[in-house]
Amino acid sequence: MSTQQINDYFFGNDEALHTLAALLCGGRIVHGILLTGEKGVGKQTFARLMAAAFLCKEAERPCMKCQSCKKVLEGNHPDVLTVIGEGAKSFHIDTVREIRRKASIMPNEGDCKIFILANCESMTAQAQNALLKLLEEPPEHTMLILTANERGALLDTVCSRTAEIRLQPLSAEDCAQRLKEAYPDKTTDECLTAARICGGNLGKAKAMLADESGMKAVNIAHAVIKSASENQYAVLLAARDLNDDKKLLLEVLHRLELLCRDILADKIGSKTSLSGEDISQNAWTKSHTMQVIASCQQAEQMLLQNVSQPLVVSWLCTKIYS
Ligand SMILES: [Zn+2]
Repeated sequence: MSTQQINDYFFGNDEALHTLAALLCGGRIVHGILLTGEKGVGKQTFARLMAAAFLCKEAERPCMKCQSCKKVLEGNHPDVLTVIGEGAKSFHIDTVREIRRKASIMPNEGDCKIFILANCESMTAQAQNALLKLLEEPPEHTMLILTANERGALLDTVCSRTAEIRLQPLSAEDCAQRLKEAYPDKTTDECLTAARICGGNLGKAKAMLADESGMKAVNIAHAVIKSASENQYAVLLAARDLNDDKKLLLEVLHRLELLCRDILADKIGSKTSLSGEDISQNAWTKSHTMQVIASCQQAEQMLLQNVSQPLVVSWLCTKIYS
């Protein structure tokens, strides 16, 4: 496999790439593959890479450059059909029947016909049973690549007919590096923060960086806690954008609570992080941290009861500083 171009397209998960290389060496078509891993780790990207590899005409597969590879990666190869389940129970038996019908037709250009069935956790039980028939007696030229967050979301009988490849999130540093390449206008710190918060999940981190208010909430919560070691004015200054944006304030309250819970966990020696941020330098006492958590919850209640927002913000700042 030509490493650099593949890395540009799909980064990390070396073990999955090795499995793909081994499958290609085997020479035979593998009829059922199940890609698992949390939402955002790149299952659909890897599925397209696999399809390109199996349809590539070159010796080094996937070459990422031949007509076949290009068509697969751009989503217009006639022998690759992608169906994406959107929402609970949205993947119906009729769709699977249509797939079975198409699977019986010979490939157009390649040696095999590849069906990428994404988000299979949204398949109904009837749809899965219909799919099972195809997995049990697949036409010789057919390959099915299923994706699901968890293996447990599918019937055991379906799983047992597929080879599972599990995809993992990246390290925070690798994830941050990819983010910086994708978003050169973001700072290195912002990329690293998003990568840490999302546990190295590139898809989630990209969505977070693209969401201005999400990143803003992260930065404000961070600044508020940091400024509490200075003076009350510094806390008010860090929170100055919260006076008239209710959605932002609610997000900041949520972030503050996660950070506080991490501070408490750190004090009892736990390394479990809810916020994904490094809070080990925090000097708050346990009782003050608990008071801030309670204040965040109370502030949320005050907002629901339509207490004036600037009043809620200044009250919260007093609690955080005191
Ligand atoms: Zn190729």
